[in-house]
Amino acid sequence: MRRWNGWGDLSTHYPLPVSALAFLESRLGSGKPAPDADLATLVSQVSVSDLPAHPLISYGAEDRLRHARGQSLPDWVALHSGQLGPIPEAVAYPKTDEDVRQLLEFADHYQLIVIPYGGGTSVVGHINLLPGSPPALSMDMSGMNRLLSLDETSHLACFQAGICGPELEKLLEQHGYTLGHYPQSFELSTLGGWIATRSSGQQSYHYGRIENLFAGGHLESPAGPLDLPVVPASAAGPDLKQLVLGSEGRLGIITQASVRIRSLPEVDAFYGVFFPDWSSGIDAVRHIAQEQVPVSMLRLSDPQETATTLALSGKDRLVHLAHEGLKFLGLGEEPCLLVYGVTGSQPAAQAARRQANAILRRHGGLQTGQTIGKIWRKSRFLTPYLRNTLWERGFAIDTLETALPWRNIPETAREIKAAIQQAQNAAGRPVWVFAHLSHVYTDGASIYVTYVVPLEDEPDATLERWQAMKTAASLVIVRHHGTISHQHGVGIDHRPYLAAEKTPLGMGTLSALAQVYDPAGMMNPGKCF
Ligand SMILES: Cc1cc2nc3c(=O)[nH]c(=O)nc-3n(C[C@H](O)[C@H](O)[C@H](O)COP(=O)(O)OP(=O)(O)OC[C@H]3O[C@@H](n4cnc5c(N)ncnc54)[C@H](O)[C@@H]3O)c2cc1C
Repeated sequence: MRRWNGWGDLSTHYPLPVSALAFLESRLGSGKPAPDADLATLVSQVSVSDLPAHPLISYGAEDRLRHARGQSLPDWVALHSGQLGPIPEAVAYPKTDEDVRQLLEFADHYQLIVIPYGGGTSVVGHINLLPGSPPALSMDMSGMNRLLSLDETSHLACFQAGICGPELEKLLEQHGYTLGHYPQSFELSTLGGWIATRSSGQQSYHYGRIENLFAGGHLESPAGPLDLPVVPASAAGPDLKQLVLGSEGRLGIITQASVRIRSLPEVDAFYGVFFPDWSSGIDAVRHIAQEQVPVSMLRLSDPQETATTLALSGKDRLVHLAHEGLKFLGLGEEPCLLVYGVTGSQPAAQAARRQANAILRRHGGLQTGQTIGKIWRKSRFLTPYLRNTLWERGFAIDTLETALPWRNIPETAREIKAAIQQAQNAAGRPVWVFAHLSHVYTDGASIYVTYVVPLEDEPDATLERWQAMKTAASLVIVRHHGTISHQHGVGIDHRPYLAAEKTPLGMGTLSALAQVYDPAGMMNPGKCF
């Protein structure tokens, strides 16, 4: 069963190794666990809805509570403190496009706003009701999880859009295929959610971001249905798929999506490489991208994240040996870890590895073989469970991200981390900040920043501290002309910064679009634009 106020399944845990806790406490002091709200008490406080019964709609108090919030840090604070704010009036469970159409009519009739709900893994407030919101119908897409067609000749699969990562990959695997879209939230997030937020998977360097994988589909909007034909490419005017990608539930419900699939790879291996410092690591991954070496993933950690990753691995002996070895080899006090992947046929993977290794060596990279890569692979979807463990110990964790041209990467990364640090230290509070380059391109990369803080005594104080750090980091991103999000989307949290990126005319274009698809403004109002 899924946790109602944390990450993932109740039966799965990510124990914090003793040495990792000591590592964190040496930087943040001891955490003070916060008292936890009780689900039964909250359920008993939910008022009964006076909407009429409907076969596809649940009015259950617990159901409604479970659809009220996503996975951002403000969401965690709300869920753990029990201060949830407004919750949906009802939760709908469609199974077909026709169901979705009927439910949109129902919502229109009873003047409900509609919030499409995929896996509820949003980290920027996409699925939350705003204060003072009209009553909301949460449209839970989990029942729309079928494989509708598989075209093996064209390597295309069409799914209902509510299918989650593991279900989708299992269905494809039975036929020898994969989509290869692996966001860290893979266990819970859905195809429709990936499209609606322009998501990026960990191996997007090889498989492509969701916008490369999304070949066409179907949207049910209040103004009517929209078919997006499946063609490999088109010069027939602006691409309507691009309007649906990143639409964050504002235009309608994505009910079906055709995606570009590949044969299961013969090889899918990951390797660890250490660099003497962050800048040689950056140069190495930039050259790999610009020389278009076909690796499948490049994830370069800064010195702080490298130290954190090693501490969290729980392999104390191995870490000790690694530290000694790195010092002996003159790799300095602040080595940076790169985990890179090769994926595909044996010969292609071997060739990619040879090419990548030559560049890595040129930049002082020290190969360590597959051990670190195997540890990373094993925990790639488990790491989100660490959020539960840390919270229980009295620590909160949050992430933010951007993407910019290579020229601006080092300075922006440094300034974002400094801004978070200063915002927290100015209030006399500690923070542990670290970063990695998670997705690289020929012209730039994404910077992914993680920060861990002790919980404050009061939930509002934790929120206030979070807001100060988030604002400071976002202003740095805007000042450096980075995108306010490379992969998490806009939701509520990034909305104040969107106009700087889109310009007033661009914002007007988005509003006009919403008017066409959703004249009454019932689709997820207040999110994105
Ligand atoms: C631990 C963790 C790790 C993460 N890692 C990554 C990562 O590696 N890469 C990444 O890109 N993101 C990541 N995310 C963010 C999040 O998982 C993505 O934004 C994901 O795409 C959301 O999918 P979802 O199905 O959970 O959508 P939800 O959170 O349910 O919804 C997100 C938005 O999409 C809309 N929506 C959902 N389904 C539909 C639909 N069928 N039709 C129309 N609109 C719809 C919702 O209304 C909402 O606006 C992570 C989140 C967490 C908590």
